[in-house]
Amino acid sequence: MSVPVDRVSALSFHPLYEPPEILADGSKVRRLNLNESPFPPSPAVIAAMTRAAALGNRYPDGEARALIEALAAGSGIPPERIFVGAGSNELLAASAEISLDPGDQMLAPLPAFPTYAKLARLRGAEFVGVPLHGDGRIDVPAMLAAVTPRTRLAFFSSPHNPTGGIMTAEDILRLVQELPEHVMLHFDEAYYEFGRAAGAPDALPILSTRKGPWISTRTFSKAYGMAGVRVGYGFAGTPELALAIRKVRPNFSLSRMALAGGVAALAEPGASAALVALILKERDRMAAQLRPAGFTPLPGAANFLALLPPPGSPNLVDRLRDAGIYITDFVLGETRALRITIGDAEDTNAVVSALLENADAPR
Ligand code: PMP
Repeated sequence: MSVPVDRVSALSFHPLYEPPEILADGSKVRRLNLNESPFPPSPAVIAAMTRAAALGNRYPDGEARALIEALAAGSGIPPERIFVGAGSNELLAASAEISLDPGDQMLAPLPAFPTYAKLARLRGAEFVGVPLHGDGRIDVPAMLAAVTPRTRLAFFSSPHNPTGGIMTAEDILRLVQELPEHVMLHFDEAYYEFGRAAGAPDALPILSTRKGPWISTRTFSKAYGMAGVRVGYGFAGTPELALAIRKVRPNFSLSRMALAGGVAALAEPGASAALVALILKERDRMAAQLRPAGFTPLPGAANFLALLPPPGSPNLVDRLRDAGIYITDFVLGETRALRITIGDAEDTNAVVSALLENADAPR
């Protein structure tokens, strides 16, 4: 008897694996391909998670009241419009689940976070990808033009993964005003803190003027260095929409440790702001050192840098992996661009010298 997996059988499956920590020659592996933070959670966050672990025999608060209250206090959005999940990944899935039926269309920029396309397929919906501008920013008019009566969900992200491109206030306003009301607008702000620190507009007040349905999602994975803890959250235009997300989420998916860690992280915003500033400084330093060698950094802000390598470069992802540095790449128009997560100063130095050494090496 076959198992009923038809809807997923066409999906490719690349198990996310942990790169080795050291190479055979003993050198350290630099993990700059997953947009993680190089900095561990703060001591106060670790202490809070440790205290929570002592109650690990008891289920966590399935309503996540303490975390939602803290998020409400920090954002000015009422608690009934806030929801949380085990990383924002879970919230992207919830969004697809409440808005897509088989045969519907999901709209997203291309390239984008690959999970969007995967979620469309899982829902039996059609994924419609709209090419980015040549500099890696989302092409809002093209996205709006791609809407059909079958479009039910549209993903936007700012800063955008994998380019780092930021949507301007005018872009967001246009979206809010012109995206038809039969389309749910999902504004993915996984890199929110980096964008804001670099001058990106605050999307929430603009999103709040939308008549149709919208949610925005964020995460503790990047700016708070908590990717391994799995805490994400989001805001919805209405309490009804927030409730819909809460209903489809798996019960108790946020552990006591994750909930306590999130609350503790919000209690010391200065700690993460300092690390965000440091990461952005390293990002600028990496860009400045690579520009003279013919690399073209894309405009934007995030905890990663996207850049076009000099024409004729060999496959730099492979070359760097051989040197123990894990980065990734993506296709932008006709070219293959690199995406490098920003680590600490030593990581920047190592990446820059490896790229400079390899960029004009024979192919
Ligand atoms: N959205 C975007 C655009 C991302 O890049 C990521 C992580 N790389 C996520 C969502 C999911 O992050 P998490 O589940 O760790 O919150």
